[in-house]
Amino acid sequence: MNSQQFQTPIEYLKGVGLARAEVLKKELRIFTFEDLLKHFPYKYIDRTRFYKIKDVQPDMPYVQVLARLISKEIIGEKHTKRLVAQAKDDTGIIELVWFQSIKWVEKTLIPGKAYVLFGKPGFFNGKAQMAHPEMELYNSGAAQQRGTLTLQPAYNSTEKLKQFTLDSKGLQKLIAGLLDQHAKDIHENIPAYLLNRFKLAPRADSYRNIHFPDNAAQLNEAIQRLKFEELFFLQLKLLKNKLTRASKFKGNIFGTVGHYFNEFYHHKLPFELTNSQKRVLKEIRIDTQRGVQMNRLLQGDVGSGKTVVALMSMLIAIDNGFQTCIMAPTEILANQHFQTIKSLVGDDFVEVALLTGSVPQKKRRVIHEKLEDGSLKILIGTHALIEDKVRYQNLGLVVIDEQHRFGVEQRAKLWRKNIVPPHILVMTATPIPRTLAMTLYGDLDVSVINELPAGRKPIETKHFYEAQRLRMFGLMKQEITKGRQIYVVYPLIQESEKLDLKNLMDGTEIMSREFPLPQFRISVVHGKMAAADKDFEMQRFIKGETQIMVATTVIEVGVNVPNASVMIIENAERFGLSQLHQLRGRVGRGAEQSYCILMTCPKLSNDGRIRINTMVKTNNGFEIAEIDMQLRGPGNIEGTQQSGVLDLKVANLATDQELLITARKCVEDILTKDPQLALPENLLLNQPFQAKNAGLSWDKIS
Ligand code: ADP
Ligand code: MG
Repeated sequence: MNSQQFQTPIEYLKGVGLARAEVLKKELRIFTFEDLLKHFPYKYIDRTRFYKIKDVQPDMPYVQVLARLISKEIIGEKHTKRLVAQAKDDTGIIELVWFQSIKWVEKTLIPGKAYVLFGKPGFFNGKAQMAHPEMELYNSGAAQQRGTLTLQPAYNSTEKLKQFTLDSKGLQKLIAGLLDQHAKDIHENIPAYLLNRFKLAPRADSYRNIHFPDNAAQLNEAIQRLKFEELFFLQLKLLKNKLTRASKFKGNIFGTVGHYFNEFYHHKLPFELTNSQKRVLKEIRIDTQRGVQMNRLLQGDVGSGKTVVALMSMLIAIDNGFQTCIMAPTEILANQHFQTIKSLVGDDFVEVALLTGSVPQKKRRVIHEKLEDGSLKILIGTHALIEDKVRYQNLGLVVIDEQHRFGVEQRAKLWRKNIVPPHILVMTATPIPRTLAMTLYGDLDVSVINELPAGRKPIETKHFYEAQRLRMFGLMKQEITKGRQIYVVYPLIQESEKLDLKNLMDGTEIMSREFPLPQFRISVVHGKMAAADKDFEMQRFIKGETQIMVATTVIEVGVNVPNASVMIIENAERFGLSQLHQLRGRVGRGAEQSYCILMTCPKLSNDGRIRINTMVKTNNGFEIAEIDMQLRGPGNIEGTQQSGVLDLKVANLATDQELLITARKCVEDILTKDPQLALPENLLLNQPFQAKNAGLSWDKIS
């Protein structure tokens, strides 16, 4: 909010006071006038009409009924205790029930009186019913007065707040009061030329109308305007930060491509790069020659060849006298990167080391020394890499794998390792819908690898029910006979950990009966095992000593066994889409045909069916990510939870994609023309940046 008034602590609002302020802060995180103003209704109630009881259907949203109370009675014992009342109009009888505040409600109900009932209808034993309806004594005069407010706002509240009479109605009163006193202080923050171009309603009107609309059209205008405002300023902040950072932080210049890169490219790289890989390398080349710090996100499906691109970028850094590192979220992944990179570069080419929590002290000390004297060129590890003890002589490029597990704070820590911050390349195999990337990583540049290396056959995905388990065994045998390996994955969800473990154990037993020793060998890995045992089992599978790996999702990230050709997912309906896609990506890494089998229970929920069908239908990670976002909402997409960026109040990244793209494009155009926001028509836009107390610190940039 651009007016100081709105930063006033909530206790100073008329009708609030200290006690209520305390609960507002605790329960709804409403600290200031602004927070209250932005506590938007979660729905609107159409009070323009009364429904007849015979017309009330269970699938209706909230409805209003005018009826006379004919009975009330408290029934049941302890847990089943409830208040049941009946009301009738000239078309039928509706039952009303309360499970809470029974005594209090019972006292307020007066049989024989006419009430305006309001609630969400349901059905119980074939009869129309309403649980916890709002009840108001009918008074024809008052009802008419209320006619001015046809769409009633409904606000989220809590039990605690209700004790302080801050239920939806109470909150509504506070907000009405706030608007009455301070609407005049809501100043326009979008320049007139943009309001005209995008046909946006004025700001103060919009805040009033989103709370108290006269009609649906007005409400929509208000919502549209506030959504635009929210998305526009978020993008403005992100892109302005990016500009500021570019002007503030210098970047190492990787001016030449020399011995390391060329030697690798011409003599060691065992395959032709895909066009996508070449394009991304070019983008990185440009980024690292501008003298500005690179912050680039590299998105690409599992197996699309991100690691090779990262390695080749690192070789360019080394060609220019810099050190590099790769930071992975787990030891297993760090290990895997280490092996991959060792095998790609071969011996005696460039010094590579692995640094994880389990590297012994002595070895660690050697690594530290070599980092400080600059002889160690490639360091691979977990967050052990950014411990304060670790000092680099000249860190030029940092590759972060699976970014979302590293917080902003950790990234910042890494940057502090050099006076000129290292270039940063973030790799993620969790494709993110474009609009989400624009927001979550809005201040990063984004590269996409959207093709798999040539010669890969698309994975065939099948959906089987329990009755088809024999077919699954058949496919397994066929593949094992061909010398291939197989993953069998079980879900592991915290709440039912024990049960899940039992499922996995039972499954293993069935497997070992179907695939007996000595002909077949099975590895088992689950979350309850010691790290060393896990690793041992994993290694057996990686080395090809076992043909089947039964596991919980611990294998989700990273393992690379190109010989594995079948991924079986048990209880597949319990996995999220992106998880399913990640798991499937564990196979299909060789030239052979690979399979993914989704085993599910016969009864799928609606969402479950969409997930399974999506998996069967497509291998495209971006398409899957889109559907995932539609199903779960942007806030639940992997990696977004800890990010405050998505704390949007009105806009929704899943449903407002078009508006977001419009807002982003608009911001880009403005900043291209007027990077300082100094033109008279853009002065309004510059205000939020001036208000903030000066410079950006590295830690603040996300
Ligand atoms: P990602 O990190 O994107 O999951 P990787 O870089 O680990 O993918 O590559 C997966 C596999 O594909 C590795 O075995 C790698 O050597 C191989 N690979 C990468 N790029 C190519 C390519 N252009 N042609 C053939 N194989 C490739
Ligand atoms: Mg990889």
